[in-house]
Amino acid sequence: MTPGRPAHLLRPLQALDPEEQRAEAEGGGVPRAKTIGPGLWMLPQPTGLEHPPRFTLSYLLEDERGGLHLVDPGVDDAGGANRARLSALLTCTGHSEADLAGTIVTHLHVDHLALAEHLQREHGVPLALHRADQEAARRLAEAEPSRAATTRARLGEWGVPDQARQALEAAAAGMADSGVQRTRAVNADVLLDDDQLLEIPGRALRVLPTPGHTPGHIALVDTTERMLFTGDHLLPTMFPGIGLGGPTPDAIGDYLRSLEALEPFARVETADDPGYQVLPGHGYRFTGLAERVDTTRRHHLRRSQEVAAVLARAPDASIWQNAERIHWTAGFENLAGFHLLSALAQTAMHRTHLAIERAEGR
Ligand SMILES: [Zn+2]
Ligand SMILES: [Zn+2]
Repeated sequence: MTPGRPAHLLRPLQALDPEEQRAEAEGGGVPRAKTIGPGLWMLPQPTGLEHPPRFTLSYLLEDERGGLHLVDPGVDDAGGANRARLSALLTCTGHSEADLAGTIVTHLHVDHLALAEHLQREHGVPLALHRADQEAARRLAEAEPSRAATTRARLGEWGVPDQARQALEAAAAGMADSGVQRTRAVNADVLLDDDQLLEIPGRALRVLPTPGHTPGHIALVDTTERMLFTGDHLLPTMFPGIGLGGPTPDAIGDYLRSLEALEPFARVETADDPGYQVLPGHGYRFTGLAERVDTTRRHHLRRSQEVAAVLARAPDASIWQNAERIHWTAGFENLAGFHLLSALAQTAMHRTHLAIERAEGR
């Protein structure tokens, strides 16, 4: 939301390509790789998941010296299909892996990072990641040996009934084993800092820190071309998960502040000017940044208000008891496995966020 702008004046979210929108909505296939600007290509890379996000949107940029830079290369699947898809795109543009000057990864999750690690290992392509996510990955790797015990302790603190604990412990272990949760350290060649200008000759791409989804999540902004690469911070159809890079003091607060960080770029939208082209990590390219920021913020504020309301009625209730009294789309009693774990984690994060706001007198 641009502060002060009434909701009905927000420019509606508009997909820039119906084919991309269909692929996301219907799950029927993967959109084609395509040119989306001068020296700029989009390469959808399958995630291998049965549910959205079914593919990661990877972006290839050419600099004025002919070097190539790849944003969020995607999953490195066991069959090597995504490696082959990247090679095919490079060949199409008259290049090869040898012309890759670097990869830039918005955050530590495997569906953005893993293929970058392959390119680093096999082709010596420098990998750039925000220093806070390199640090977060190191902490996750360090915590890995005690992960099962930590989960058990957390379920206890949350007041999870005995009969539900085993299934939740299994769900947490499953996430780690499947690689959804990062359990290995990353060795980035370039550690990015807030507001840093990327070394891409002829392009003005700047690091916009957007912590919340993970502690070191970044967006990339080009104010000349009016392009905003949002990674998993802002997506056209999903509300990104929060606090998915290990424990942080207030992931919800970080995330909400990171939505505010997008507002200067939303402010340029008018009735005749669609403003920034948003290039997300999943879904499809879109305009209507202000509306999407607004919708996403409202979703989280609503949840915070719900948690505040149940806490007001029962201040000593456990996280489990809070979560039971909150509205979940599927219904709390129907939540299981990862979804139940995520509902409890969200409730806990909102409670922490509310306590911090209260302590700060907001
Ligand atoms: Zn992610
Ligand atoms: Zn992702």
